[in-house]
Parts: sequence; structure tokens; C-alpha cells
Amino acid sequence: MDKYIYMDNAATTPVKKEVLDEMIPYFTEKYGNPSSVYSLGSISKRAMEDSREKIAKIINADKREMFFTGGGSEADNWAIKGIAYGNKQKGNHIITTKIEHHAVLHTCDYLQKNGFDITYLDVDEYGMISLDELKEAITDRTILISIMFANNEIGTIQPIKEIGEIAKERKIYFHTDAVQAIGNIKIDVKELNIDLMSISAHKFYGPKGIGALYIKQGVKIDPLISGGGQERNRRAGTENVAAIVGMGKAIELAYEDLEEHNDRLTKLRDSLIKKIEDNIPYVRLNGHPTKRLPGNVNICFRFIEGESLLLSLDMEKIAGSSGSACTSGSLDPSHVLLAIGLPHEIAHGSLRLSLGDFNTEEEIDFVVEKLVKIVDRLRQMSPLYEKIKEEQ
Ligand SMILES: *Cc1c(COP(=O)(O)O)cnc(C)c1O
Repeated sequence: MDKYIYMDNAATTPVKKEVLDEMIPYFTEKYGNPSSVYSLGSISKRAMEDSREKIAKIINADKREMFFTGGGSEADNWAIKGIAYGNKQKGNHIITTKIEHHAVLHTCDYLQKNGFDITYLDVDEYGMISLDELKEAITDRTILISIMFANNEIGTIQPIKEIGEIAKERKIYFHTDAVQAIGNIKIDVKELNIDLMSISAHKFYGPKGIGALYIKQGVKIDPLISGGGQERNRRAGTENVAAIVGMGKAIELAYEDLEEHNDRLTKLRDSLIKKIEDNIPYVRLNGHPTKRLPGNVNICFRFIEGESLLLSLDMEKIAGSSGSACTSGSLDPSHVLLAIGLPHEIAHGSLRLSLGDFNTEEEIDFVVEKLVKIVDRLRQMSPLYEKIKEEQ
């Protein structure tokens, strides 16, 4: 096998050919500014509104509730800062969790330095929050609950409907970072009582640098980016029309065959987990055994470093990740793995393989075969492993 094996689909995905084909004309002949009154402008405007409508429909929202952003991080920043500053006369308390993406965590840290109170909820060993702890954390100053739909590192899916009910009952806004969930899970924002939801196209085979924030009608939120009157005066800047068209196409494709995609990925995922567990000793699956994203595999290999594992896999042309892409390069173990209670030395030996539409069972077998050899070789160099073996 000389092709690259890409198992880092939670970091980003390739743009599908059908998506790219729809985007290209909006770079070249259909380049009008959607705000312009002449027909070249209206062509762009119409394409953008069609995309907005497609996305809204898929999550059971109205098109006037969908706002395009420059990606998932911007959507998260906007939701949290926008609600915080738009509702500070009502309160200054925000509830989130310890396992959020940094786009949420660092935004909350920033607000904490600027007069807001943040509660970071703990999670259990599977990465699940406790609904009782959430209820107990609510005060009459709480203005926002921000809890991710599914975790990017360990794949755990939170009880979103129940969280939405609690927020609704207490009249608190509920934001969810659904960047990993969208394209993998059927999401109905009304049924789930979601007030704000972040999505990003490059995680579901669309282009990078485009995302959206769903804002339920009536939600009081400040803008993040000021300027022209684009996006109903809420997000200034000339719209990224080609990317918006691509995101619309990508979401349409994702939901056309959602069940098939899920069944296939879940089978591949479980097969990869089983083959690793059957062939390599001293491993541990991180995250929930069933309430997890269909393509997510996150495993700790004791006695070795995730980084060395990644480098060895790269030499075999296999791409994975040790925790989240944003934390690689730093020596701190992932905040998510620490939050589920892993000791530092075990958290360091983690590997995330996230599967996508282009992975096959043949690739799984190849990766497991290489992993067995790599893990064994790296463990031979570990004094700790030597000691364990001597004791047996
Ligand atoms: C990728 C990701 C983001 C950031 O989205 P970008 O479009 O890359 O800014 C936010 N949250 C989660 C859960 C993600 O996986």
C-alpha cells in the first residue's frame, strides 16, 4: 500500500469533488458582491441564500436564524461573547465544561478575566457531564450554558436534549458547539431546545474557513464583528460566497446518506477498536463505549508517548493525532484526557484515529498490523515496560 492513510478526520476532511465543482464558478465568472444591486451581485446573493436555506432546513431552523461565520472558532467566540455582553444586565454567570474545544474554553477564560463568573463542569470517566451537577451550578445570575454536542478528542456525545430542557425551564440560553456532531448526527434544534449552535464546513467535507452560528429568533446577542450591514447587521464583512456555496453542498451530501454513513463508520470504528484490543496488550479505550461519534477511536497505549507513536505512524504514511491538533506541539497532556481522570503518564500515550467516508476495512487491517509492530518496538525502549515484564 503506497497511498496515504488518512485517519484524522476530526481535525479536518478533504473537500468532496461535488462540493468543489459547485464552488468554482463563484471564484471566477460569478464573482459579484452579494450586496451589489446589479444582476452579477444578485447571482451571488441567491446562491448564498440557497445555501443558507439548505443548512437551516437540515437542522429544522428558519433561514433567518442562520448566520455565516469564518469557521467554528468564530461561531463559538460569537455565541459566548455575544451572549455575555448582550445580557450582562441580567447576570454574569456562564456554565460550560472542562472538555470543551479551546475555542470555547479560551473564550470563557477571557471573559473570566473581564468580570464574568465561569463554572467549568467536571465529567465522568467516559467524558459525560452530570445533569444534577448542571442543575446545581445554575444561579439566578446564570445567562448561558455552553456544552459541546460531541467531543472532538474522545467522541463522547452529551445528553443534549436533557440539557436543553433544563436551560429552557430556567430561561437560560443554551449554546452547543456541534462542530463534530453535524454531518454525523441528525440534529433538530427545536426538538433539542438549542438556542445557539456552532458548525464548521471543513469537518464535513466542505472548505476550511467557513462556518455558521444558528441563533434562535428572539435571542439577545451582540455582534462580534462590526462593520457593514451583512448577515442582517449581525456579522459584518463581504461574504465568502464560494465557501458558503460549498458548505451548503457539503451538508446536503452529508445528510443524503446519513444512516448509511453512520452504519459504515460505526462498523469500521468498532472493528478498529476490537482489532487493537485483541492484538496489543495494555491498551485502554477513552470515551464512552456506545455514546460516541461513529468515526472516533481514542486509545491509550501504556508505556509509550503519543508523539513517538505519531511519528512512527507517519513514516508508514498513516495520519492520526495524539489528542487535539491544537495541543500537539505542546508537552501538556490533553485537557480532555485529564478531565476524564487519566494520570499524566497514561494520557501522554494517547492516539486518536478518526475515521471518515474514505477509510476502508483494508486500511484498518494495515494500520493495526503496523501499530502492533510500532507499539512493540517503542515499548522495548521503555524502562517501565521492562520492569512490568520482569515482574511477570
Ligand atoms: C474543529 C473544531 C472547532 C473549530 O472549528 P474551526 O472551523 O476549525 O475554527 C471547534 N469545536 C470543535 C468541537 C471542533 O472540532
